[in-house]
Amino acid sequence: MAMGKVYLVGAGPGDPKLITLRGLEALKRSDCVVYDRLAGPQLLNRARPSAEFIYVGKLPDRHTMKQEEINRLLVDLALQGKTVVRLKGGDPTVFGRVGEEAELLRKNGVPYEIVPGITSAIAVPAYAGIPVTHRDLASSFSVITGHESPDKLDRSIQWDKVTNATGTLVFLMGVSKIGYIAEQLVKYGRPPETPVALVRWGTRAEQRTLTGTLSDIEEKVKAAGFEPPAVIVVGEVVRQRETLAWIEKKPLFGTRVLVTRARSQASELTDKIDDFGGEPYEFPVIETRMPESDAAVQAVKDAIGAAETYDWVLLTSVNGVEYFYRWLDLCGIDIRRFHRARFAAVGPKTAEALAARGLRADVLPEKFLAEGLLETLAGEMKAGQRALLPRGDLARETLPRELEKRGVEAVEIDVYETVQADSQDPFLLEMLETGEIHAVTFTSSSTVTNLLQALRRLGAENPAALLDGVDIACIGPITARTAEENGLKVTAVAESSTIDGLVDVLCKLRQQRGD
Ligand code: SAH
Repeated sequence: MAMGKVYLVGAGPGDPKLITLRGLEALKRSDCVVYDRLAGPQLLNRARPSAEFIYVGKLPDRHTMKQEEINRLLVDLALQGKTVVRLKGGDPTVFGRVGEEAELLRKNGVPYEIVPGITSAIAVPAYAGIPVTHRDLASSFSVITGHESPDKLDRSIQWDKVTNATGTLVFLMGVSKIGYIAEQLVKYGRPPETPVALVRWGTRAEQRTLTGTLSDIEEKVKAAGFEPPAVIVVGEVVRQRETLAWIEKKPLFGTRVLVTRARSQASELTDKIDDFGGEPYEFPVIETRMPESDAAVQAVKDAIGAAETYDWVLLTSVNGVEYFYRWLDLCGIDIRRFHRARFAAVGPKTAEALAARGLRADVLPEKFLAEGLLETLAGEMKAGQRALLPRGDLARETLPRELEKRGVEAVEIDVYETVQADSQDPFLLEMLETGEIHAVTFTSSSTVTNLLQALRRLGAENPAALLDGVDIACIGPITARTAEENGLKVTAVAESSTIDGLVDVLCKLRQQRGD
């Protein structure tokens, strides 16, 4: 059997965008991903769905798998011919035991690559507004493990030297030893008023920062019940946070938002959540595809084949535009055969999608809802005209009915159909149960019903109850009604029925709450 290969990949500190391109490429081509707790769940979704996922994480109270066993596992998987990614939090060489893993691979003749990552030692303080060095405040920094027992800490750490290093001290794995660490630093000469910050789950929605001084930090940690994992930063640079803190000021900071729309359509929404400081969590419950039944295919072909007969082409979504063009391509039809038709695009995104294909919409109704559309179109369309409506199979009936009432012949075609996506996610249920998902976005009625079904498929007995206490944000009143009918408590409805409107309403909601 051909020999596999192992990539020892740094996943970065948590924010899934903080992995390197090289790491992401390795992940995408791997057959098997070996991961632990510090590698964020969303990154695993970047691997192929058919990949095998093996959790080898350590839990605080017990070791799920010994380091030697992990080393052996990597070798065995590679010997089976697999391309393996060993995903590690932060950088694999910073307290990541990558040396031991690489050593056994080398001994067994298994090829490997080390793909560096962004270490939490630097990134986590940065997300709290603390630069580890500063021209005037710190000309060096040390990264120190705080994990060991105090005796061992004494043996492995030369406190006198560490304390008197010129710069910032960064401790990883030190939360439970904070009292001891602070005591040693003061004992060897750091002033008790030296500022200290603990940053927990930095770069993730759970990011929390606690600041104090060497003299009071232990007390503060106890009082706050502050738990690991956290990065501890000691030194004058900590004060920078007062002016440089940034992500915490964004409106969706601390909010993990479930995005349910089809992966192909999700990027606009996820990018926006990200821009506003939230953490998008993609779980696509629907996907779109070309219709498959012979009858459906024939109907579209016939309708498009009569290109010259239309006075209007009405496009109501970006998907509608994309699939309409796919059909033109499939049927070998040049868009110029629609020379008699005027084009109407509902909403700016639909108009942009058309413009990207060299077509400027003649009419651009502002509102998405059929009512607004009709107002705008009413003045333009005349009785006896013929309109083509390329749309999805779940489109509402109102529009064609209203057009018919005005004497316009509406030819509807289902250029795409919406089907349930078979998304797998080993973390989602637990995250919902433990309150780690703070909001859910619904962009259509089908995302509502399909999410509930998907949760049931994942094993939830009462999916609606699982969403209790989670903010439910809907793109418009129809989606909201579907959500309510399915037993969900809708907390926000977008005013403009657009993605921008959806994110805006979510920001408002979080701000009102003072989250
Ligand atoms: N190789 C990792 C460090 C592994 S040691 C790296 O380069 O980041 C594990 C410790 O890293 C944790 O105990 C904690 O101190 C720190 N850590 C990792 N990710 C963190 C995060 N997102 N927020 C806070 N601390 C983190």
